[in-house]
Amino acid sequence: MPDLSQIFESINVGLVVLDRDLKVTYWNRWMAERSGLAPEAILGTPVFTHFPSLDTPKFMRSVRAVLAFGTFAYFSQKLHKHLFPFRPVGSLAQRIPFMQQSCTMGPLRDAQGAIVGVYLSVLDMTELALYEQRLIQMNQQDALTGVFNRRHLETRLREELERSQRYHTPFSVILLDIDHFKRVNDTHGHAAGDGVLVELGRRLGGMVRSTDCFARFGGEEFCCLLPQTPLANAQILAERFRTAIGGKPVAHQDLALEVSISLGVTEASGTDTRKSLMQRVDEALYAAKEAGRNRVVLLPPEA
Ligand code: GH3
Ligand code: MG
Ligand code: MG
Repeated sequence: MPDLSQIFESINVGLVVLDRDLKVTYWNRWMAERSGLAPEAILGTPVFTHFPSLDTPKFMRSVRAVLAFGTFAYFSQKLHKHLFPFRPVGSLAQRIPFMQQSCTMGPLRDAQGAIVGVYLSVLDMTELALYEQRLIQMNQQDALTGVFNRRHLETRLREELERSQRYHTPFSVILLDIDHFKRVNDTHGHAAGDGVLVELGRRLGGMVRSTDCFARFGGEEFCCLLPQTPLANAQILAERFRTAIGGKPVAHQDLALEVSISLGVTEASGTDTRKSLMQRVDEALYAAKEAGRNRVVLLPPEA
């Protein structure tokens, strides 16, 4: 049998052994390369000397359990983004500050079976984590405008309505639709229409808070969820939306496309369902169209 420790030095996994005083007694080449700390620099020193961020209640609980009972502990990258604060490898470093890690901890026993230390294995999950992040984002995003899509809006609507009803906090909704949008397409072509949608998403999407949800609801309809916002404040934002579009033409090639939007605004009541809430905001939008377009109409919840 060849010396198996050869594997430990070449495997694409970080391997660390700590003794019962949590001093480092083994530090494989992977760990040395990723940390920039040669084995000579770290062997014999407590692991917290070089990695103070490891000293967390969760880590200590796990170490104690391993030393006392010989159990195993797992740190998944989703629960615990990284154990060792390493830079991601190569160009991934431009996309995320720390290597995402999946780690395992288990007991090391001597010939008599006594637990003499713990070993840690560290897997680099950065690429997978970024891929997953991208998939989640794509699943929530409208492909044309980059704002949230309807699927995500429906999810947030359910959550925010429940939250507002449980905690009696205000929750308002704005629904808006571009006026005579068909004319833009008919006169200047579909690409010009698309350009208007993209610019609208950029302008209005950039005006909301990160806790709000600005989404493309349908073709040229957009919806904005405003948690913790009473009707009067939603009205102010709706007016800002209106003036950010009406009277500020959208440049497309050498054209300046003049468009306006109509908006409905309502606030959720304690008895609203998603359906009744969306119906009311749609009625408000319809009333804005009926009243001549390029305006905001409020429809408060029935008392
Ligand atoms: P109103 O003021 O009553 O809203 O009139 P409108 O012309 O905007 O309303 P209508 O519902 O009749 O037409 C909506 C148009 O939106 C029809 C369609 O050509 C256009 N539209 C929907 N989705 C897209 C899209 O993704 N890209 C482009 N370019 N146009 C779209
Ligand atoms: Mg429409
Ligand atoms: Mg329209």
